[in-house]
Amino acid sequence: MTQRPLAGFVIMAGCLLLLACGHSAQRAATPPPIIDMHFHAMGAGDQGPPPLAMCVSGEALPVWDQRRPWPEQFIGWLTSPECSDPVWSPKTDDELMQRNLDVLRRHNITALTSGGRSEMLERWQAAEPTRVIPTLHFSLVEQPPSVETLRQWFKEGRYKALAEVTNQYGGIDPNDPAFEPYLALAEELDIPVGIHIGTGPPGAPYLGFDKYRARMHSPLALEEVLVKHPKLRVYVMHAGWPMLDDMLAVMWAHPQVYVDTGVIIYALPKAEFYRYLQRMVDAGFGRRVMFGSDQMIWPEVIPRAIQLIEEAPFLTAVQKRDILYNNAARFLRMDGAASK
Ligand SMILES: [Zn+2]
Repeated sequence: MTQRPLAGFVIMAGCLLLLACGHSAQRAATPPPIIDMHFHAMGAGDQGPPPLAMCVSGEALPVWDQRRPWPEQFIGWLTSPECSDPVWSPKTDDELMQRNLDVLRRHNITALTSGGRSEMLERWQAAEPTRVIPTLHFSLVEQPPSVETLRQWFKEGRYKALAEVTNQYGGIDPNDPAFEPYLALAEELDIPVGIHIGTGPPGAPYLGFDKYRARMHSPLALEEVLVKHPKLRVYVMHAGWPMLDDMLAVMWAHPQVYVDTGVIIYALPKAEFYRYLQRMVDAGFGRRVMFGSDQMIWPEVIPRAIQLIEEAPFLTAVQKRDILYNNAARFLRMDGAASK
């Protein structure tokens, strides 16, 4: 008599257990979606001879002893990491692509992917067409395509955004007359534009970018462009770090401007990234901050960057999801994304 109910209970418990297992397995297989607004399809050697190391949230940035060239010291900083758990870059292009795509799949990420070399971007896109969203890397100092060529590419849907715009490395401001026709085109075709404003590598003017200037970290450089093109959808890459007050002023005066976290999420000491992010959120702009990994040659910084958002003690669960997904979905006008 007692056997049957017991057996029934066991079966039921087994079902419950299975259901629970099924759920957690499903959760593990498909975590909540994430949009990475700042993802790069690069070659393994594009930042210097691989492998190179990155200390996530490293505590100390390098100091230049001018008796030795800065490039040599900078590479030394990337080959002799001072942290106990550096992320090492893959040694080949193929491995770099595979490890990046693995991260996208594992963490359910859709990535706006900027490729300095179009053939590389095409290869990554062919390998993972639903997750790799192609965007056009653009620099006025690297013989850019004509406005008419761009018009054709955007109309064909070859690129979904104009990003990353790296004119800052050439000392060219967003309101430079040579950039104006490209911005007019982006506004006309409703193409999002991601502009590098803020951090290049430490010591950029001594790494070959002789026109790079610290003052160009200020998002105030965007103002005339924003007023001239009120329908332009712009996001400030790296959130204009460290020009926090300028960034807040721009977000206040121009409510259409979004930012991405970019490289500051992992390359800065954690306290500084958190302080910067918290100020933007505390100021009321939490619905315009988007996750962007700027992973370059280090795919495994992406999960650690996500973790930094997920563990931020000053963010609510809703704010975390906004940063990791909702804000970008709204900015990109993805189907079903509510406008708030
Ligand atoms: Zn970037």
